[in-house]
Amino acid sequence: MKKANIIMLGAPGSGKGTRAVALCEVLNIVQVATGDLFRFNLKNKTELGLLAKTYMDKGELVPDGITADMVKQRLSEPDAKNGFVLDGFPRSIGQAEMLDKILEDIGESISAVFYLDVPDDEIIRRISGRMICKDCQTPYHKEFNPPKVDGVCDKCGGQLFIRDDDKPETVKKRLDVFKSSTKPLVDFYSKRGLIVKLPSELSASGAVADMRELSKKLGFI
Ligand code: ADP
Ligand code: ZN
Repeated sequence: MKKANIIMLGAPGSGKGTRAVALCEVLNIVQVATGDLFRFNLKNKTELGLLAKTYMDKGELVPDGITADMVKQRLSEPDAKNGFVLDGFPRSIGQAEMLDKILEDIGESISAVFYLDVPDDEIIRRISGRMICKDCQTPYHKEFNPPKVDGVCDKCGGQLFIRDDDKPETVKKRLDVFKSSTKPLVDFYSKRGLIVKLPSELSASGAVADMRELSKKLGFI
């Protein structure tokens, strides 16, 4: 069995979070989502959280060094040894180079980069209506993936909320940042033969089934 150290690449709202959660369930590995780590720090009012908020609220990237340190710390924890899904990192060529260095330091490498290519108008439709669980961060959508009970997480009973940065003006800025800074990573990882393109729509059987099938195809299970 191949070890699964996977990067999820895609615009905000492309559905990478949903796939990342499913992949973790299928492969029993950990999700390392930089956005969630920042929000967790913010909730606990850490220095890192308060600093990150000033960038996040504007739809800008948190500086690379801060983000990379946080990722290195998380990937160095014992539960990441079985494999991980990086969700939201790297987001620029600079961060990808930092990631290479981090992985070299901890003796790991990238197994695959899953890329979700979703058109802009679809992204906007998906982000408006997005809600996440305040306790376990599971994403929902009022139209495409509604919780069983309005405003309540199916998994843990936590309250669902709409993120501050899911406001329309901020969404537009985040899409611009994606195009200019993050999209070049598709080329960067293509040259290493690591890109696996995922369909932008989930099949009728859902994210877990899709990720299981893909994992089998790639030899992760
Ligand atoms: P999305 O992918 O939907 O934009 P995230 O939860 O991944 O949402 O990120 C929310 C915000 O957190 C980003 O707009 C950015 O400000 C910050 N952030 C997350 N990941 C990174 C990163 N790798 N580098 C810099 N900033 C980041
Ligand atoms: Zn929850």
